[in-house]
Amino acid sequence: METSAELFARARTVTPGGVNSPVRAFGAVGGTPRFMVRGRGAYLWDADGTEYVDLVGGWGPAILGHSDPEVIAAVHGAAAQGLSFGTPSPGEVELAEEIVRRVDPVEQVRFVSSGTEATMSAIRLARGYTGHSKVIKFAGCYHGHVDSLLASAGSGVATFALPDSPGVTGHQAQDTIVLPYNDLAAVAEAFQHNDDIACVITEAAAANMGVVPPDDGFNDGLAQLCRDNGALFISDEVMTGFRVTASGWYGRDGVAADLFTYGKVMGGGLPAAAFGGRADVMARLAPIGPVYQAGTLSGNPVAMAAGVTTMRATVERDVYPHLDLTARTVGDAAADALSAAGVPHRLQRAGNLFSIFFTDSRVEDYADARRQQSWRYGPFFHAMLDQGVYLPPSAFEAWFVSAAHDAAAVDRIVDALPAAAAAAAQARPPD
Ligand SMILES: *Cc1c(COP(=O)(O)O)cnc(C)c1O
Repeated sequence: METSAELFARARTVTPGGVNSPVRAFGAVGGTPRFMVRGRGAYLWDADGTEYVDLVGGWGPAILGHSDPEVIAAVHGAAAQGLSFGTPSPGEVELAEEIVRRVDPVEQVRFVSSGTEATMSAIRLARGYTGHSKVIKFAGCYHGHVDSLLASAGSGVATFALPDSPGVTGHQAQDTIVLPYNDLAAVAEAFQHNDDIACVITEAAAANMGVVPPDDGFNDGLAQLCRDNGALFISDEVMTGFRVTASGWYGRDGVAADLFTYGKVMGGGLPAAAFGGRADVMARLAPIGPVYQAGTLSGNPVAMAAGVTTMRATVERDVYPHLDLTARTVGDAAADALSAAGVPHRLQRAGNLFSIFFTDSRVEDYADARRQQSWRYGPFFHAMLDQGVYLPPSAFEAWFVSAAHDAAAVDRIVDALPAAAAAAAQARPPD
């Protein structure tokens, strides 16, 4: 990893921490982040030429595997026609139609460039629509680095144990009510004490504090409470959308949110995200309504081409049964290896998203997630890495499989697990 180490040293000089997104720095697992130079199918290669089976998948977009020939051809084709016009272009219509066709409650969508922008815009729209200011979110749910949503935000914030972020003002924080995930009674009580709630936002299935699926009836109960109290319900499907089924988590629980947010898979690996929902709510957006929202690169033609090609391929190739089976096989193998090594653990799933918690008890919310022995994860992660398997560099992230994870890739993961489980068994808590 000589080249990665050299690049990391150079990067740290010109970029804070050497990375452009914090979890990439390996802060939670230690060691040198690998600088990747190539991805194909289920595999990544770093700058030193080492090959890895990838279980991060670009944090979700690589649902078909890396460098899928059809997606690459679509990107080449679009790029050859021009990179950005700052005008409407046909790909935006195609991708919007694809999303609207799949998710019944989504009647209209607006494209943005990141999941962060999607949730930020959805919240502005909910405030503009309701005239209310407060937002309910759940501890451990991550919705991007939107100021008002960084409180108890899971993901990188959990990885680095930051309670909140400096730079978020008291006003912004005051308008956010943070409640425990899977606690419907707490939400009902918050509505009783507050008549200024604009929206409830939740991950459709929480997967940024490790994977914590919603209890039966939780999402439905949230939608009902919002309806009863004149607030909007926002289902953040940036991670689950078009990954767990062709219509996202909505395809599993059928809960009709007022607004949905998307990203990751729908951009096919390029920067594209979206928010969408009820037509009467979306009609409040500029240019037909007063709520302002815009973007130079929104609906970028190259990103639209990657997104629409990826989305169509997931259905044409019927990837979901394979993703489910692969996730089951890998998750079970990890749990079995940890059992054999006597390591306390719990495997949790939300469709084909899954993660391992180093604890004996069920994880239902962020407090449970943080009680795990996360110090076991670094040694586990590095033992996998040394054997050519690239896991998320944090105990609080989901593992991602793809349509390209074939038997050979799965075998390599399974073969690496016993040594990693042994490393987790030998790990000792920090003093
Ligand atoms: C990744 C993610 C986001 C943020 O998306 P970015 O594109 O990283 O800004 C928002 N919500 C959820 C649920 C996510 O997983």
